[in-house]
Amino acid sequence: MDVTDNSTTPQALNRFSLEGKTAVVTGGSSGIGRTITELFAADGADVVACSRTLTDVETVADEIAESDRSGEVHPVECDVTDREDVEALAEATNDAFGGVDVLVNNAGGAGGEPLDEVTPEAWRQVVEVNLTGTYNCTQVFGDALKESSGSVVNIGSMAGEYGVAGMTPYSAAKSGVSAFTRALAAEWADEDVRLNAVAPGFIGTDKVREMFGVERDIDRSNVARHMGTPDEVADLVRFLASPAASFVDGEVVEITGSPLVYEPGKLAE
Ligand code: NAD
Repeated sequence: MDVTDNSTTPQALNRFSLEGKTAVVTGGSSGIGRTITELFAADGADVVACSRTLTDVETVADEIAESDRSGEVHPVECDVTDREDVEALAEATNDAFGGVDVLVNNAGGAGGEPLDEVTPEAWRQVVEVNLTGTYNCTQVFGDALKESSGSVVNIGSMAGEYGVAGMTPYSAAKSGVSAFTRALAAEWADEDVRLNAVAPGFIGTDKVREMFGVERDIDRSNVARHMGTPDEVADLVRFLASPAASFVDGEVVEITGSPLVYEPGKLAE
């Protein structure tokens, strides 16, 4: 692991950077995953960004290539619930960049019905993408991460920490992501692989804003705030993935503006 004790030199700031690293971001075509991909590339990391539809993630790669970001983005079609797809993703990552330093398990999504209406198929689908997808990618990239003394950042949710009424499958799956993170961090501590998770509250992706009719500008003047931005989540993910977080392992970091005002389901006002 990349650790230093000269933390007071200007060079110490390099520890916050992912420059020269290779990262895999699942669900990189939109929302939080897209922003993480953009930020990592801006920082000089090469990124394999995957999504279920190749053209969606190709668009992201093209836009980043046309920008002034120095990292390269390699788009790959992959459904994280499909083991063969994930194995092909690992192969594509190795072919493109020769290894992996950072895995961000971001692909996920919620389902929203009261439990009485949740079908076994809907339950299975939510657990598959949020929890089994995280297991699939982490296990398949495991050897490569051990080789690089890499790090994993899982995207959980406050739903997994508190539980949200009307989102039982999602709450349970994200809670599983948190427990998976803590357990595997302990299991892989001797392998020099760090695992952490972030648990965002309500985040104003384009999709969420559209769905709830929320304006782009988010008021940060009032501490009682209920909605974050994808950039704010991406900043935290970058920190956890970086050598600056070398002593942060097995944590689930809540990112909610203020946990004291976090109210599941409450919208930004
Ligand atoms: P989003 O729908 O914009 O992004 C989800 C991404 O995952 C998309 O790119 C989608 O194509 C991809 N994806 C979905 N299923 C997949 C699969 N089987 N295989 C590969 N890719 C798949 O939503 P988002 O809000 O950006 O969510 C990103 C992550 O953040 C998710 O894990 C979500 O649960 C979590 N999260 C979001 C919020 C929020 O308020 N937006 C809050 C807490 C946690």
